[in-house]
Order: sequence, then structure tokens, then C-alpha cells
Amino acid sequence: MNGTSEEDWKHILHFCATKPGILVPSIGLHPWYINQRTAGWFDRLRETLMGDPGIHLGEIGLDKSRKSSSKYETQKLVCRRQLILGKELNRTISIHCVSAHGTIFEMLREVFPDGSIAPPMLLHAWSGSLEMTLAFCKYFPHCFFSFSSPKTSKSIMAVPTDRILCETDDSRSSHLFHSYNEMIGLEQFSKLDFKGLKQLLEDNFRKCFQRGEIPHHEGDVNC
Ligand SMILES: [Zn+2]
Repeated sequence: MNGTSEEDWKHILHFCATKPGILVPSIGLHPWYINQRTAGWFDRLRETLMGDPGIHLGEIGLDKSRKSSSKYETQKLVCRRQLILGKELNRTISIHCVSAHGTIFEMLREVFPDGSIAPPMLLHAWSGSLEMTLAFCKYFPHCFFSFSSPKTSKSIMAVPTDRILCETDDSRSSHLFHSYNEMIGLEQFSKLDFKGLKQLLEDNFRKCFQRGEIPHHEGDVNC
């Protein structure tokens, strides 16, 4: 579960604490909410992350769409600063990226010159091209891609099955199951039934966010 602004960090942490081992919190400054940041935002973020290794970083990123009112140059500075923090603290990083895939890729290459030792990253609501998908897979072996409504496209077909996750902005699990069903229709999952897909997504989720330290909870939806 991701935070996006200083305002919601405490709510994310509080809510995730109600389901330990099932909900995993991430907090970060999202490009849409950069203008509202306070003078001490970075220190607060750093101290909160340092206080609990089970908290990850995100959403952070770049957004060139009209939805984002913050200056692109400021977005880049804020994003880069958080990436360096994620590197320092070795936290999984959830990345929001709209119409800036090449720029974020170059920034990640700069912050993580050796992508093989970069922490897991989740490129959420992935909308990159086939070329960008292949480039991320090549240079960042621990990057994952998530989709809220997977469409059959060349870029999703290029994502290896052990790098795919499912996501939702909805508080109800029904939307997530809808995404599962759409995924089963994709060619790379055609050999899996619903149970097999659920297991695959759970395994991917653990590799991305739990990284082996949190016990298995039978029957829970963990995406
Ligand atoms: Zn996002």
C-alpha cells in the first residue's frame, strides 16, 4: 500500500499496522503532491523509513501529464533525492511514471550504475513502450511491473511472468480479481488456472516487497 503525500503517510502506516504481514506499507512523495511538501519533508521521510526496515519507498516518480501541476524540473530533483534514499536504505521503490519513461530510466541508471544490485523496484500502472520494457528488464533484474487493467499489448507480452504484479486503487478486492481474470487471458499466463496465477502473483509480491522475511498467510490476497 503506497503513500503519496506527507498528509497520508501516517494513515498508510496506521492502516497497514492493522494487518501486519499482509499489508506492506510504502511512503514517498508523489509528483502530483510535490507543491504541498513542507520544509522538513525529506527528514521526516528518512527518519520514518530508518525507524522500520519493513517500510518501503513510494510512490515516487515523474509525471508529465496535465494531472501534475508541479514543475518537471522540481519533480526530477525530488525523485532523484528519494531514489538515492532508497539506495542508501535498500528499500523496495514503487515508481509512478507518466510520459517520462526515458528520463526515469536514465535517472535510475545514474543512481544505480550496477542495476544487478539495485533494490527491487515496482513500475506501477506500467505504460512504457516495448523498447522501454525490454531495457528495464535487461538492466534491472529486480524490477517488477504492475497493471491495474492489463491490456494485450506488446509491452505487457514482453514482461516475464516472474516480474508481473497486479494492483488496484479500489478498496474492494473485487477489482483485483477482475484484473486477475484479465491476466489469465494473456498469452504468457495461458497455462495457468486462477489458482496458479494467484500463487505466481503472491510469489512475485514476496520477492518484491517481503523479500523473504515475512511468513506466508494462506488465503490472503497479497497484491
Ligand atoms: Zn501512480
